[in-house]
Parts: sequence; C-alpha cells; structure tokens
Amino acid sequence: MTESTTSKAARILIVEDEAAIRTLISFACAAAGYDVKCVEDAVQAQSVVDSDPPDLILLDYMLPELSGVDWLEQLHANPKTEHLPVIMLTARGSESDRVKGLNAGADDYIVKPFMPRELIARIQAVLRRYQHQNQAMEDNKNTVIVCGPLTMNEASFEAKVDGEPLSLSAKEFKLLLVFAKNPERVYSREMLLSLVWDNAYVDERTVDVHMLRLRKQLQGTRAENLLQTVRGLGYRAHISE
Ligand code: CA
Repeated sequence: MTESTTSKAARILIVEDEAAIRTLISFACAAAGYDVKCVEDAVQAQSVVDSDPPDLILLDYMLPELSGVDWLEQLHANPKTEHLPVIMLTARGSESDRVKGLNAGADDYIVKPFMPRELIARIQAVLRRYQHQNQAMEDNKNTVIVCGPLTMNEASFEAKVDGEPLSLSAKEFKLLLVFAKNPERVYSREMLLSLVWDNAYVDERTVDVHMLRLRKQLQGTRAENLLQTVRGLGYRAHISE
C-alpha cells in the first residue's frame, strides 16, 4: 500500500491446486500488470489473506481438503475478510455449482477452460466495481440510514437493530441497504439482481436465498417483520409502528 501513486498494481491471489493452470493464470495476470501471488490450497490462502490481504482472489472451486466454495463461506463469515472480491474458477460448469459459488458470495464465476483475456476482463470488471463502491463509501462517510429499528452505516458496513449488531455478508448488507434506503418501495428480484449483484450470471434464486438469510438475521429482533414478500412482485421493507 506504499507504492507510488503512478502505478499501484492490484494484488491478485490465485488459489489453484493444478500447477499448469496456476502457472497459466499467473502469467496472464502478471502480463496484465497485476501483482500476483499463488497458493495451492485454502490453508495457504488463508494465511496470505491474514498477513497481507490481496485486492482480489481467483479461487478454484475444486481444491484438496477444504473446497474453494467452503473456504469462501468462511471468508465471508469473517467481518475482516467478507468484503474481499472473489472470482471462482471451475472446470465444472453446471448450474448448481454456479449457484453454489454465487450464493457463497463470489462476485463472478468463470468456467475452465477460458481465454486469458476473458479472465482479465472479468478481473478488471470486478475491481472496477469495488473501486466504485469504495469511492461511494468514502463519499458517504458518516452516512447512517435509519429504517424503523434498523440503522445501517455504509462507511463501516455496520447494521444494527436497536443497537445490536447484525452479522451480514457483504452481499446481504448491500441487499438490506437497498430496502433500508427506500422503505415501502417494492423491488422485483430482477431489480435486486441488477442493484446488488450487477451481474448477468446470477440466478433469481440467489435473491431468495439471501432474503431468507436476512430474515433469519432479523428474527427475534424488532425488525423481524421488516422484510416482506409482495406476492407476484418481489420484496419490500415495511415499517410497522
Ligand atoms: Ca482444482
């Protein structure tokens, strides 16, 4: 983080157990000007993330011991690492794996074999999105949104109900924020996908899964009925007095 302002290369962590693919990806990323680090499994990846968090992780789905998707869930369960951008790599292109990866919080998904330039384009897109988000967060510093008993701080990523913090993943936070900013407004799944996921590869079921998780988080709080299903249309936040 102390490099000169002229060329601060984004740091990419590659987590891939197959040496040939690791080398290929690493070459492609280095050629595109990224600062690359490679590891072979989730344990090594975790230690890199703990000591020197990268700007983006390229994560293979199938890894020995802990799978990529299981590790991603751990990353996103930890408030310190839940905002790290992740692109999943996999040889398995099945719909259910794709949904699993995205539900675990991956920002994008790329199926092997892929063209290096396609990979680089995806990396650029995800990094750009995060830069925009970070900029928006800077701009919104000290902005606290209040929606009934719920308060959300966009700068610190904190969400609380009656002062009690909720434990949300980055995607869950963004999703809840959409509702908190516009109570009573109905959002279709399609709208939520474009607002929160900004990604054509995500399935509408992903929205339902995240809504379910949000409701679980709100259970037992005064905001437990905040998120409502509007039949045939989508969801809204409703503040009951
Ligand atoms: Ca693998």
